Amino acid sequence: MLWPYITFASAAVASYAGYATMAPTSQLYGRTLTHGSDPRQMAVTFDDGPNDPYTMHLLEVLEKHNARATFFLIGKYVRKRPEIARAILAAGHEVGNHTDSHPSLILVSAARLRQELSDCNKALEDALGRKIMLFRPPFGGRRPNVLRTAGRMGLAPVMWSVTGYDWSAKSAAEIVEKVSRQVDSRPKPQGEIVLLHDGGHLALGTDRSFTVEATRQLLERYAAKKFVSVSGLSQGNQRSHSTKELR
Ligand SMILES: [Zn+2]
Repeated sequence: MLWPYITFASAAVASYAGYATMAPTSQLYGRTLTHGSDPRQMAVTFDDGPNDPYTMHLLEVLEKHNARATFFLIGKYVRKRPEIARAILAAGHEVGNHTDSHPSLILVSAARLRQELSDCNKALEDALGRKIMLFRPPFGGRRPNVLRTAGRMGLAPVMWSVTGYDWSAKSAAEIVEKVSRQVDSRPKPQGEIVLLHDGGHLALGTDRSFTVEATRQLLERYAAKKFVSVSGLSQGNQRSHSTKELR
């Protein structure tokens, strides 16, 4: 059953190559993005959705502040709630692949790795009718094989520079405090990529009300910054970590 995969992967690579030559995000190609160069920008990212009702609540909060964000979605949840994935895109945000069932990719076979990425891509493309360009590995689990396989499928890996630790937070204030401590103590300010969660990989319906409220407070606290999607982060002359350096 290799043939369908090869056909799909070739089409994805061909399409991405065309995209990379003209899009402002072409610097993402072959690299793992961790942050941008412009400290006036901030890219807030949400993992493990779509998740009712918290994803929709976040969309309202983001809309109020005219902020753009990026959502890394789990394929099996997208098949259950495709209308939430469509609402994210319709609101002007960016959507990425967070695998189909959220395994640690460090531990899975090469075949399972390909399946996880392509099943999630298919769920997203069926729901949204467009190619997916970004990928975030569950638990941040990277290894050369993960990055190579993602790259062959036209997926640029996106990590983060700031963690909200919202999966274990006892209040919204705790999340805001953790994020702002990291952002404000940077010796050389940069365009931060902030990791938060609108869902939980263990179950749909995971309570993310602290994250919704923390996001509202962070948008106010950093109102002087421009909240952009990951592809909107300016890269200046800096070098991100290339996949070669990580091997
Ligand atoms: Zn996750």
